[in-house]
Amino acid sequence: MATATQRTERLSSYNPATGEIVGSVPIHSQEDVDAAVARARIAAQSWSALSFEARNEELAAFRRAIAGAAEDLATIIHKENGKPELEAYVEVMMALGHIQHAAARAEKAMEPRKVSSGMLANFRATISYHPLGVIGVIGPWNYPIFTPMGSIAYALAAGNAVVFKPSELTPLVALKVEEIARKTFALPDLLQVVTGAGATGAALARSGVDKIAFTGSAATGKRVMIAAAEHLTPVLLELGGKDPMIVTEDADLEKAAEACVYGALTNAGQACISVERVYVASAIHDRFVDEVVKQVRDLKVGGDDGHLGAMTSPAQVGIVKDHLDDAVAKGAKIHTGGPDAISGNYIQPTVLTNVDHKMKVMTEETFGPVIPIAKVGSMDEAVKLANDSRYGLGSSVFGGKSARSIAAKLRAGMTSINSVMAFAGIPTLPFGGIGDSGFGRIHGDEGIREFTRVKSTSEQMMSIPLNMMTFRQPKDMAKRLRGMIKQLYGEGVVSKAGDFLRRLR
Ligand code: NAD
Repeated sequence: MATATQRTERLSSYNPATGEIVGSVPIHSQEDVDAAVARARIAAQSWSALSFEARNEELAAFRRAIAGAAEDLATIIHKENGKPELEAYVEVMMALGHIQHAAARAEKAMEPRKVSSGMLANFRATISYHPLGVIGVIGPWNYPIFTPMGSIAYALAAGNAVVFKPSELTPLVALKVEEIARKTFALPDLLQVVTGAGATGAALARSGVDKIAFTGSAATGKRVMIAAAEHLTPVLLELGGKDPMIVTEDADLEKAAEACVYGALTNAGQACISVERVYVASAIHDRFVDEVVKQVRDLKVGGDDGHLGAMTSPAQVGIVKDHLDDAVAKGAKIHTGGPDAISGNYIQPTVLTNVDHKMKVMTEETFGPVIPIAKVGSMDEAVKLANDSRYGLGSSVFGGKSARSIAAKLRAGMTSINSVMAFAGIPTLPFGGIGDSGFGRIHGDEGIREFTRVKSTSEQMMSIPLNMMTFRQPKDMAKRLRGMIKQLYGEGVVSKAGDFLRRLR
C-alpha cells in the first residue's frame, strides 16, 4: 500500500520455530484503510466494466505469476507460520486451483437466468448478477494464502476490487501476493493489502466496503459483524469448527486411521476443518485406536523433514494444553503425546480415549495436534454426538453402505465420505458452515455469487386484458377477483386455471 512506507509504527512477523523476526510491516490506521478503499473503488469501476474474457486473461496472468513465485511464497509461509515446506506448497497449489476455477467459471455462474413469470405470463422475468464493488477480506494465519484466496479470487473473478487485511502473524506472505498483483494487473489498486492487528481489521470492517469476507474465530466474527453494521455492510463469516469423524463397523480400518491421522494433524491440527473428534463403532474401537497410535508414533515433529511443524502462536499452545489438562482431569486416557509432551511451540501429537462431551477437547475448538476418540454403541449415537455442537463446518464418515445415509444426517456445511477434507480442494463445491461456524459460502458458483448483487428484471412483452397495475379497472373488478382467488387458490379446487398455474411454477 502506497502510504505504508511513510508510517513509523510497525509490526514484526516472527518465525514460530526459532522466535526470530522474519520481517516487519506497517500498522495501518483507519485513515490508511479508507484511502486504500477509495483507490479500490476507482479500480473497481474499470475492472467491472471489462468483459469476463478480459478479466479471465488478467487472472490467468496473476495465476501464472503466483505459480512462478511458488518457491518464495512457500518459504515465507514456512517461516511465518511454522508449517513444513511441503504443507506450504500444498497450500499454494490449492490456492492456484481456486484462482483458475473462479476465473474460468465466473461468466457461467453470473449468467443471467430467465425464470417463470407465474401469473404475469405476459412478462419476461430475468435474474442477473453484478459485482458489488469493493470487497474487504480479513484473513487468518493458519492457511495464510489458501484461505483468503477463497474470497479474493472469487471476488476478483466476479468483477470486484479487493482490500485484504491478513493476520498480524502472517502479513509478509500477503505483501508478496500484493506485489505480484501490482505487477500483473493493469490496475495496480485492484488488490491491495493493509497490515496491522485487530484494529486495522476493525477499520476495514467499518470502512464502508460493499462486503466483508471474514475468516477467523467466532468471537472475532461477532465483533466484525458489529463493526460492519455501522454501514449495513453485508458479511460472509468463515469461522471455526469442531469437525467430527464417524467410523462405522465395516470401514476399512487402516485407511480410516490414515485419514484420521492426516485430518487431525495436518498443519499441526491448526485447520478450521481439522478432524477434532472421532466416534468409532465399539466393535472396532480398540483396533482403530491401536492403528491410529501406531501411525502417529511414526510421525516426526519439527526439523526440515518433520511431518508437523511448530505451532504458529504461543497462545494456541496454551489453549491446547488447557484442553488436554481438562480432559485428563476428567478421566481421559492418553495413549501417546499428552500435556507433558509440549515443549515451547512444539506439541507432540496426542491420542486420547475415554473422552466425553463434558470435556473441552470434545466441545471447544482445540486447533492443535490432538485426536480424541470416543467409543459409540450405535451409529444413531454417533450422529447424535456429532451433531451435539454449536459449530457445523466440516465432517467425515468412514464406512460401507451406511456411510451415505449417516453423512446425510450430519448437521454441517460439508461432509467427506471415506476421506477427510476433500471438499476444500474441489473448487466446484461451496465451502462454509452453519451455527458458530458462520454463514455464506466461498468456492463454487455460490462462492462467486456471494460477491455479487442480485438484480431482478420484469419486462412486459405484450398487453393482456387483465392488467392489475392500473387504477383504470372495470367496476366489477373486485367481484371478478373474488371469483378468481377462489378458483386459483381455493381449497380442493381443481380448475383449468389452477392447472395452468401449476404448470407455470
Ligand atoms: P482471529 O479471529 O484471531 O483473527 C482473524 C483475523 O481477524 C486476523 O486478521 C485479525 O487481525 C483480525 N481481527 C482481530 N480482531 C478484529 C476485529 N475486532 N475486527 C476485525 N478484524 C479483527 O482468528 P485466527 O486466530 O487468525 O484464525 C484462527 C481461527 O480461524 C480458527 O477459529 C479457525 O477455525 C478459523 N478459520 C476458519 C476458516 C474457515 O474457512 N471457516 C479457515 C481458516 C481458519
